[in-house]
Amino acid sequence: MDLGIKGKRALVCASSKGLGRGCAEALAAAGVDLVLNARGAEALEKTAADLRATYGVDVTAVAADITSEEGRAQVLAAAGDVDILVTNAGGPPPGLWSDWNRADFLKALDANMLTPIALMTALLPGMIGKGWGRVVNITSQSVKAPIAQLGLSNAARTGLTGYVAGTARQVAPQGVTINNLLPGIHDTDRATALDAGVMAAEGITAEEARARRAATIPARRYGTAAEFGAACAFLCSVHAGFIVGQNILLDGGATNATI
Ligand code: NAP
Repeated sequence: MDLGIKGKRALVCASSKGLGRGCAEALAAAGVDLVLNARGAEALEKTAADLRATYGVDVTAVAADITSEEGRAQVLAAAGDVDILVTNAGGPPPGLWSDWNRADFLKALDANMLTPIALMTALLPGMIGKGWGRVVNITSQSVKAPIAQLGLSNAARTGLTGYVAGTARQVAPQGVTINNLLPGIHDTDRATALDAGVMAAEGITAEEARARRAATIPARRYGTAAEFGAACAFLCSVHAGFIVGQNILLDGGATNATI
């Protein structure tokens, strides 16, 4: 399918690896020029070089922490007026409800709620001015069904979801859509780190930890960054203009709910 977005320009945050990279790659395959971002310059430059070589699109790489004000300023200066924004950042650490203090909550809110909101605040006016734009926020399955040990993530991402629900309806008249993609378990470094925690806690191998988790998913496997990226690129396409303010689960059926 021709996504109809060849020649558009996208900012994809936290995109040297994992789900962000999957989104960047699918957009590059559709002919979209990219601004990529991550903190570590080495992996970021490698991803940028791979995408340039494979897809022939223009790729700018900005090594910066997207959750800091200075980092965002650097990224936004390089991005200029983009047509497409994909927000993403690392997720907060797991723990118990009694582990977290105000500073932990502020950090999580900054990373997974206020950062995407700041990026939208900066970039929506340009999209509205052009009468066309797409925003996809990478959130989590935990928005639909809480993951008990990820209380910081549950809290921050649900706040973002509430913001998007209203804002998406305010910008839709100007041709701009905002939607959230909710990953369940995907085969990335984040999933490997979560499996390592289970390995250590239960004295089992990495393979056992993964097999145990996969067995809880109706699809009986982890998702891939490529599948996730393809869904993101579709939401950014010309075909998705009537999809507004939605929260779309990509979880292999793991969330046991009728709707
Ligand atoms: P990942 O494989 O660990 O990749 C994270 C990417 O984000 C890397 O490129 C990393 O590069 C970059 N990054 C992290 N923090 C950043 C920051 N502050 N500023 C700029 N770049 C940053 O993670 P992932 O699995 O793709 O997860 C992406 C998001 O989806 C996370 O919020 C995660 O919690 C959420 N999620 C993932 C899963 C899953 O199963 N994978 C499930 C539910 C939700 P640097 O480290 O060099 O900055």
